[in-house]
Amino acid sequence: MSNSCPKCQQSNIVKSGIVKERQRFLCRDCNYYFTVKKLGKQIDDYYVTKALQLYLEGLSFREIERIIGVSHVTISSWIKKYNIKRPPHSEFHTSYKVFKQSELITFVQNEENIKGSGLIITEFGDKYMMIRWERFKK
Ligand SMILES: [Zn+2]
Repeated sequence: MSNSCPKCQQSNIVKSGIVKERQRFLCRDCNYYFTVKKLGKQIDDYYVTKALQLYLEGLSFREIERIIGVSHVTISSWIKKYNIKRPPHSEFHTSYKVFKQSELITFVQNEENIKGSGLIITEFGDKYMMIRWERFKK
């Protein structure tokens, strides 16, 4: 892993998702995004775990691909590798939103947005994802 920003050479960098199977970083000093070459089979365990978690919560391979930046083929292979089977979600409807921190604060400030739904907030680099489960109205 690269330890400094290629633009300003500072080392105040954070992981910021994966783009086309390459780890993306954000420099917090100059807000520059950059990726490092070849993740291949070395994709961070963190993303594998997140992908499995999202799958279990009811998201499709394509949705997970969009969020994590790893191809649905790779995600599908992880599901097989770890033998993940998800229970039926017949009474719940899963939805997710991706927020910047300031947007997240605004969203959770309104109790109507978070009441009556299972809620997970998970970090993805410089953004946050919220997964919600809502019961189907009878
Ligand atoms: Zn920088």
